[in-house]
Amino acid sequence: MRITVAKIFLLVAIFLAPSTAISGAVSIKKIQFTGKNLLTISLSAKTNFKAFTLNDPPRLVVDIANATQLEQQPALPFFVKNFRQNPQHNSLRLVFDLTQKISLKNTHFDAKSTAITTEIIGIKEDVDFITQKAEEFEFETQKIANPDGSAKYVVKKIPKVVKQKTPVIVIDAGHGGKDPGTIGNFVRTKEKNLTLSYAKELGKQLLNTGRYKVYLTRDDDFFIPLHQRVKKARKKNADLFISLHANASDDRSTSGFSIYTLSEKSSDKQAESLAQRENRADIINGMNFADTSKDIMKTLIDLSQRESKNSSARFAAIAIRRIRNSEIEILQNTHRFAGFAVLTAPDMASVLIELGYLSNKGEEKLLNSIGYKRKVATSLVAAINEYFTKNRE
Ligand SMILES: [Zn+2]
Repeated sequence: MRITVAKIFLLVAIFLAPSTAISGAVSIKKIQFTGKNLLTISLSAKTNFKAFTLNDPPRLVVDIANATQLEQQPALPFFVKNFRQNPQHNSLRLVFDLTQKISLKNTHFDAKSTAITTEIIGIKEDVDFITQKAEEFEFETQKIANPDGSAKYVVKKIPKVVKQKTPVIVIDAGHGGKDPGTIGNFVRTKEKNLTLSYAKELGKQLLNTGRYKVYLTRDDDFFIPLHQRVKKARKKNADLFISLHANASDDRSTSGFSIYTLSEKSSDKQAESLAQRENRADIINGMNFADTSKDIMKTLIDLSQRESKNSSARFAAIAIRRIRNSEIEILQNTHRFAGFAVLTAPDMASVLIELGYLSNKGEEKLLNSIGYKRKVATSLVAAINEYFTKNRE
């Protein structure tokens, strides 16, 4: 194989002799591309430097004497593909891999700002450096061989195709098997049966959109410990976890839909006692998860849960608006916070929905009607569509 040596053009080379003696290491404080054509490299002190361009492939190189490496990657404009730092003997070489040939003008050390500045000439697109991000594009380098053995390289900029993942939604029908959940006061509706039928309706409507992968934590009447439900969802890499429940109150006039997201402290007494009741499911299985969950929950919250808490709250806000617009009755202060064991996954948006009160005569009847079930599911699908559309913007 014949090896052709790329021709290197030294377009600009500037040497500056500092007026004062240099001692010790110089740190690079910041590298910035600003305006239409200005590169600024801020330093901790004055030092010798050399800035020049190379071609085949095009590069901008800055050698800085006695410099230590920059820790943060600088923001790169569209014509810079990549940034590298190569420590050399007594100096640090900064290399900017470019998508096109450029040249430098007015390269100098600005004593006032303690910075190397240079104007970049010959950028083909007349845009501000900051208006286009390099990540939005991919670059294809094409080698064109000349008859004399030399070669030229053409770099093409093509918009990056972002492959979007199909969102995964896990619907959790609360309770099941030996754990019936709340039992209705009038027609003795079991919460476990109600949650399963709502989970199936919601799952069916979500699948009909063709936009999601949908899983149910249970599709029949069997018991699953709370932590297993979360585990199942995480195994499926769920983006959204919706746990469905029905509520009960000593005050039989209380009614309405409500939605909960996780917090260390419950937003109020009712939310607190509700969390205790829903978490009790695991005591039946011989394991007091309600107690241990306090520690697990704290650890998880201490980890990086802020992101999923934010997205959970965002989904809850959208869902409430959609439910309200469908004229479905909602509880006052419907978005509440409580320590539910099923909401402790740190890496997915998780909400717990109390569909309504089985202790309220009218609502127990309403919750059992097919029309109402469809309406609630349709509103939730609209909320889920809105949530994932906004996530992609
Ligand atoms: Zn429940």
